[in-house]
Amino acid sequence: MNMSEFNTDKLEAVRKAVNVCTMCGFCKSVCPSFKAIGWDSALSRGRIILSYGLLNGELEPDESVVRNMYTCTTCADCVRRCPSKVEIVDIIELCRADLVKNGHILPKHKVMCENILADGNPFAEKAPRREALGRTPHPAKIGYFVGCTATYRSKETAKATLSILDKLGADYTTVDEVCCGSVMQRVGWPQEDVTPLMQKNVDNIKALGIETLVLACAGCYRMFKMEYPKYVDVPFEVLHITEFLAKQDLKLKPMEGVVATYHDPCHLGRHCGVYEPPREVIRMIPGLDFREMEYNRKTSHCCGGGGGVRSAYPQDSMNIANTRLDEAPFADLMITTCPFCVNNLDSAKGDRKMQVRDLVEIIDELL
Ligand code: SF4
Ligand code: SF4
Repeated sequence: MNMSEFNTDKLEAVRKAVNVCTMCGFCKSVCPSFKAIGWDSALSRGRIILSYGLLNGELEPDESVVRNMYTCTTCADCVRRCPSKVEIVDIIELCRADLVKNGHILPKHKVMCENILADGNPFAEKAPRREALGRTPHPAKIGYFVGCTATYRSKETAKATLSILDKLGADYTTVDEVCCGSVMQRVGWPQEDVTPLMQKNVDNIKALGIETLVLACAGCYRMFKMEYPKYVDVPFEVLHITEFLAKQDLKLKPMEGVVATYHDPCHLGRHCGVYEPPREVIRMIPGLDFREMEYNRKTSHCCGGGGGVRSAYPQDSMNIANTRLDEAPFADLMITTCPFCVNNLDSAKGDRKMQVRDLVEIIDELL
């Protein structure tokens, strides 16, 4: 592995993490990829040691090592649980960036990132977003950033969010978007290619005079809220759609005879601290029997769809989703607030009677 380009300060940070890890195993008790795969090398403390070996050149990135580094969903449950305060997700993403720089990118990830650079979305969709959404951006106070998945794949999420904003009479617009860059950052693609995407989105949003940007995708939201400010100036408020809806006086039709639960997306919850607004919106639904799963809010378990795991290791991703679904045997309906979580949980649902739905779709139906 070519180490000449690696930043020694970063190597020192990983070395410190190896040293302060007491091997307590708390991360093992929560890591969804460990539960799905069963090897200590596929959990946080194992990945820290692999990262150190890879970054200092003592370990060859063979197929098994690369797999261990790319089956992490970046859910951050280990970060929450670690008494030594090791920022494990940062270390894993640092290591992935080094793997990519040295040519060890997984084929599925490479295609998605190259599609983003060529077409502005990971799906190689050529249709302009204005056409896909049937909306033309115009100056307004509120901007709705739809995201690639809701524009081209989970179109119900986009349709429902647009419909809610229409029904509320909001002064809003869509935006000329390119991919927010989340996929690229999560899989370790060079930041030099991500920052221009960030700047392009911010420039397009600014040009419309938008004061508040609303997002219904947890992954895009995390990017604008937590990652964009590290690289570009973000001169507008950033709200998840549930933060926006929680402030509205929603007059909703009742939903009787349904037991519902809520799955916290990792990007929205642990990464951004948004736990209560979705619950406040759910509680506005008259008649709904809402019950928490045992693992909720900060302790919520991952759906298995993040960190590039779904595209590269679909079976591991499905196993993680199954574990999460099994935690709500009482529910007729699992509500969540991210198209990735909806897709992954719904794909793993099998014969279960439970429905998995995005909160915006339910709110749109009841508004
Ligand atoms: S971020 Fe999640 S999947 Fe990755 S090592 Fe930590 S607990 Fe495991
Ligand atoms: S929880 Fe932290 S200190 Fe404990 S084994 Fe995991 S990484 Fe090491």
